[in-house]
Amino acid sequence: MRLENKVALITGASSGIGAATALLFAQEGARIVVVDINDQAGQAIVQEIKEGGGEAVFFHADVSKAADCENMIRYAEAQYGALHILFNNAGIMHGDDGDAMSTSEAIFDLTYAINVKGVFFGCKYGIPALARAGGGSIINTASFVAHLGAATPQLAYTASKGAVLSMSRELAVIHARENIRVNALSPGPLRTELLMSFLDTDEKKQRRLVHVPMGRFGEAKEMAQAVLFLASDESSYMTGSEFLVDGGITAAYVTPE
Ligand code: NAD
Repeated sequence: MRLENKVALITGASSGIGAATALLFAQEGARIVVVDINDQAGQAIVQEIKEGGGEAVFFHADVSKAADCENMIRYAEAQYGALHILFNNAGIMHGDDGDAMSTSEAIFDLTYAINVKGVFFGCKYGIPALARAGGGSIINTASFVAHLGAATPQLAYTASKGAVLSMSRELAVIHARENIRVNALSPGPLRTELLMSFLDTDEKKQRRLVHVPMGRFGEAKEMAQAVLFLASDESSYMTGSEFLVDGGITAAYVTPE
């Protein structure tokens, strides 16, 4: 098993990428702290892990709150004795997020509070825990939109993911000699609740798919495989990367008809 004896904390683990990663990590031998604001769905993931013979606990935390993040890390260490893997994955893409004129300050602040401060707080309290464990791996979920501009605007979201990339890069440099690796994951467009509710008509979905060389949305499970690689010792010489898992969208200028 690829994560034997490891303890992993995953935020946004009640759904989508986080849930798929929690299930995969558990199969690979890690003990998991499932963190989310959606308690019911989070408990269901824990149940599924246990039924598959794995070990997991749920912890309610809103990643935009410093105290919640401090508590989730404390809980992980109290529960399992150490923390080795931190997946800062919780994020939102608000339906009212648009261009500079249409996006309100409140939506901008809310998006930053969860997508950027959430990663900051995870690292603020998580890095000392990883150091106490002798090192570890942090993965922060960014997005392909941090690499490309789109005419379908979601300005606050795009800016927030750019911040995740630059923060991850700097953290990687600062902590490299403490045996703490920090990589960003840059997913392409995925068939998850988050994107499908944003692209809520067939026309909007098609407009996005035109740009993906593979011609389909990615699956949460495909992201989980990438996160597993970044979390495990198999990626031991990788830090500060922007790991793109995007169906080729960032490589494309023109896609096949
Ligand atoms: P999702 O909506 O299925 O899951 C997100 C989870 O985060 C949910 O369980 C939600 O309850 C939780 N969450 C939201 N706010 C929270 C908060 N304040 N505190 C704790 N948990 C909170 O979405 P997903 O597609 O799995 O997204 C996961 C990450 O991947 C996000 O950071 C998202 O921006 C990023 N991403 C998604 C796509 C995509 O196409 N779906 C593409 C690139 C990046």
